[in-house]
Amino acid sequence: MKKVIVIGGGLGGISAAASLAAEGFQVEVIEKNAHLGGKLNVLEKEGFSFDLGPSILTMPHIFERLFTRAGKRMEDYVEIEELRPHWRNFFEDGTTIDLYPTGRETAEQSERLSREDGEDLERFLAYSRKLYESTLPSYFDRGIDTFWGMMKFHGVLRALFEFDALATVDQGVRRHIKNRYLVDILNYFVKYVGSSPYDAPALMNLLAHVQSEFGLWYVKGGLFNLAKGLARLLGDLGVKTTLQTEVVRLDVKDRRVTAARLADGTAREADIFISNMEVIPACRDLLGESPSSLRRFRRFEPACSGLVLHLGVDREYPHLAHHNFFYARDSKKHFSAVFREKTLSEDPTIYLVAAARTDRSQAPEGCENIKVLPHIPHIQDPPFTREDYLALRERVLDKLERMGLDGLRRHIIVEDMWTPDDIQRMYYSNRGAIYGVVADRRKNFGLKAPKKSDRHDNLYFVGGSVNPGSGMPMAALSGQQVRDRIAARL
Ligand SMILES: Cc1cc2nc3c(=O)[nH]c(=O)nc-3n(C[C@H](O)[C@H](O)[C@H](O)COP(=O)(O)OP(=O)(O)OC[C@H]3O[C@@H](n4cnc5c(N)ncnc54)[C@H](O)[C@@H]3O)c2cc1C
Repeated sequence: MKKVIVIGGGLGGISAAASLAAEGFQVEVIEKNAHLGGKLNVLEKEGFSFDLGPSILTMPHIFERLFTRAGKRMEDYVEIEELRPHWRNFFEDGTTIDLYPTGRETAEQSERLSREDGEDLERFLAYSRKLYESTLPSYFDRGIDTFWGMMKFHGVLRALFEFDALATVDQGVRRHIKNRYLVDILNYFVKYVGSSPYDAPALMNLLAHVQSEFGLWYVKGGLFNLAKGLARLLGDLGVKTTLQTEVVRLDVKDRRVTAARLADGTAREADIFISNMEVIPACRDLLGESPSSLRRFRRFEPACSGLVLHLGVDREYPHLAHHNFFYARDSKKHFSAVFREKTLSEDPTIYLVAAARTDRSQAPEGCENIKVLPHIPHIQDPPFTREDYLALRERVLDKLERMGLDGLRRHIIVEDMWTPDDIQRMYYSNRGAIYGVVADRRKNFGLKAPKKSDRHDNLYFVGGSVNPGSGMPMAALSGQQVRDRIAARL
């Protein structure tokens, strides 16, 4: 029986481990933290529960596949429910628009949208569907990893046309949508991959179809219950999990990894190694590659990071939905600050999740558990200071108070703040990025690093830094694609 070591128990690592164990491989997951799930993590404090990382689940069928291929039923492990509206969108002029899966419903439910706006949105969603369907057989189903691989599969001319290859996300949106509020809303889908609509390829507009078609889901009791369910699945499949244990080096001989060296100096030998540690940190820290050798990855710039505030407040804000966005006055300026000037935005767009709006188990009676996430640049040289982050916190709270969260500061009774340094320290993500590699038309055309090492024959990568990329479902899909690659070579 072939032995596999998985370095890191994030969603990519868990998915690879479950998929290979279901095929009869002997698998061990080695995770440096005390929990499985990686960024899918939880903070419980004084009766409040906060999903530290992801809070939006899309494409649940990708997770379901992990269970069914193991002969199990997902509902026996995790309970999920669909949310409506998907997002509530707040604008500085007082406009509020709820986003539903269809253009018709979105327009019908809003006083600020006309029937024509709804029809524009339907046309945009049809375009988004085509983008998704054109990449389905190559990128999602076959796990093709490279630009030339994609060109070979689709043909250059067809790919240029079908992927709307000459446009950015923003240009693709504006070609279909006139309403300025809807432009801001649709441009923000690219948040799922931590990128800018002014730099990301229009192909990323497929994200709107993904949410509209497959729904937006909540995991009952909090998203971390998904990690718990997956951990149970690994146990049932006989996967060995070793927590609070760091892999510090990979031993190499004749272009093959022979062992994972642990912090205590012991070695774990195996036939196949799968790294859920991101590609650049793994090549640098586990394989000792030099800066000049790492230059081959320079187009895989980290995605953005975030300043994450967890606020337990002793009052309710009934006008909030479960998921909310508070838009910058000038969205382009905000994106430009984060992705081009690499500064902390003066007026950021803010994502706010208030899970207790639909799940009362998440906060004490009469309270809200509010998570606030403005996107900010990944760690810079020199890095931002604590004072810089605290100043941004003030701007964020000012904006939320101005936009309807009356007296927010006065009602905070529990607070916790995560900076990019915390994210890097906790998960070893490259420069504190929260979504792996940025999608940028000029740098990488939205492609991440390949899943198979270019230097070591039995080393694979999974998770947000490789294709198909970041976000929970894509990280899980990367693990399934690596299983397919390994199985195809047997
Ligand atoms: C604040 C925040 C909000 C987000 N919101 C969403 C959202 O709403 N929806 C969504 O889909 N996605 C969201 N994401 C992104 C999503 O969390 C990630 O894309 C996904 O979870 C990444 O999975 P991964 O497989 O890359 O592994 P990671 O979660 O990065 O886990 C990697 C694991 O490897 C371990 N590790 C690394 N190096 C070593 C080593 N040397 N030895 C042992 N262990 C090691 C780490 O400790 C970690 O547990 C969010 C992320 C953050 C941080």
